[in-house]
Amino acid sequence: MNAQPPASHFINGGYVEDTAGTPIDVIYPASGEKIAKVYSATPAIVDQALAAAQAAQKSWARTSGTERGRVLRRAADLIRARNRELSTLETLDTGKPLQETLVADATSGADALEYFGGLAGALTGEHISLGTDFVYTIREPLGVCVGIGAWNYPTQIACWKAAPALACGNAIVFKPSETTPLCALKIAEILVEAGLPAGLYNVVQGLGDVGSALVSDPRVDKISLTGSVPTGKKVYAAAGAGVKHVTMELGGKSPLIVFDDANLEDAVGGAMLGNFYSSGQVCSNGTRVFVQNGILPGFLEQLSARTEAIRLGDPLDEATQMGPLVSEAQMDKVLSYIEIGKAEGARLVTGGNRIEGRNGFYLEPTVFADVTDDMRIAREEIFGPVMSVLSFSDEAEAITRANATEFGLSAGVFTRDLTRAHRVIAELEAGSCWINTYNLAPVEAPFGGVKQSGVGRENSKAAIEHYSQLKSVYVAMGPVEAPY
Ligand code: NAD
Repeated sequence: MNAQPPASHFINGGYVEDTAGTPIDVIYPASGEKIAKVYSATPAIVDQALAAAQAAQKSWARTSGTERGRVLRRAADLIRARNRELSTLETLDTGKPLQETLVADATSGADALEYFGGLAGALTGEHISLGTDFVYTIREPLGVCVGIGAWNYPTQIACWKAAPALACGNAIVFKPSETTPLCALKIAEILVEAGLPAGLYNVVQGLGDVGSALVSDPRVDKISLTGSVPTGKKVYAAAGAGVKHVTMELGGKSPLIVFDDANLEDAVGGAMLGNFYSSGQVCSNGTRVFVQNGILPGFLEQLSARTEAIRLGDPLDEATQMGPLVSEAQMDKVLSYIEIGKAEGARLVTGGNRIEGRNGFYLEPTVFADVTDDMRIAREEIFGPVMSVLSFSDEAEAITRANATEFGLSAGVFTRDLTRAHRVIAELEAGSCWINTYNLAPVEAPFGGVKQSGVGRENSKAAIEHYSQLKSVYVAMGPVEAPY
């Protein structure tokens, strides 16, 4: 597959190039080879994209919701029909194995387009009776939205932001992560093929400076960022300066609590999914696995056996269960955390090494036991295949320790005691939670974090509130009673 796009940016319905921008090499993480090159957006490109979005948005907002939805649903169908091609590109962009990308990326993007396409015709304001007078509300789009993506789910992130934005009648300019610039361009092509008018979905490439230029532009009404907490703080502050709407999908260090009555096989499977899927590069991962004392030896024994059996290798081979990390920089960062874990006194149960003899950025899936709350590997987001196992004795202790973090994206509980499951989940400070499973994120469910992990929610009907606003109209049915 040729990964090189026809040009770097997609603006006003077509590809646009400006070679004056800084070149960005696209590296295939499984080989370290350069597979494409794009150019960072120049100020002229940023201006062109925002101008196109602003020009197209008003008439899109006047299009009926049903018609807007039809375009999105057509795009969803095209994505499903081309799932293999799109999944292969996602694999080339990120290094995630085809076994995953075939079921978790373009398909998840299609789900979002289908779901919000279905909702578009049902978006309404309301009528509020005041006796004789009344108020009605009009649900209006925000205007021009900017989406800024992380590199772990480039297709999904592009669609999760575009689908509700477009359904509500907004235009969007999306800046993918500089590490994975390819997939969003394909989504742009497909949306246009599905009938989306030019200018409503634009893609510009670039690093943080391009993101920053987009965020501070006065033409922009809303920013949705998926990224780390430090970037989130900068973007939130810049958005605040312009009093713009924001959705912040940021990082996490989420707890997964395994009680001694849990189905051990399910709990181990959940912990592995919540730490090793996508080579551990998932924001909602349950990277602090709290295991109740009595079952700790059995848990670790099964965990290490199953972890050592993970099939690592060529991501384009569908039998491969785990691919490389996204980049050399990310691999080095994760390796440095493994060294920190060892130095802090955590016990390395399995893994811990780079895979020798491969050119790509491969790491062994890694498990640390005897991890304590104060260790950096238990406090900081590593964003790689490194699981920290901590032990606890009772429920109250587990809850207190689980909540002792500035993050609050996700949490999970494994137990056969239903009452306890709901009681504990209710106490956990996290936005996206699971009972007896981990990391499933269907489009019907709100997704997002509390505390420093984020603001706002993606997916579900909740996302509509973050891509539209209400105009309130008071209607008088009688004379004005002025006292003057
Ligand atoms: P990052 O914060 O380095 O970058 C995210 C995006 O922000 C990139 O496109 C980057 O170019 C851009 N950016 C950087 N500085 C900017 C600035 N000053 N202004 C505007 N844009 C700027 O994150 P990353 O390394 O690409 O992704 C990993 C992080 O993303 C992890 O922390 C992970 O938890 C988080 N993440 C969160 C979710 C979620 O839904 N909560 C999902 C995926 C990833």
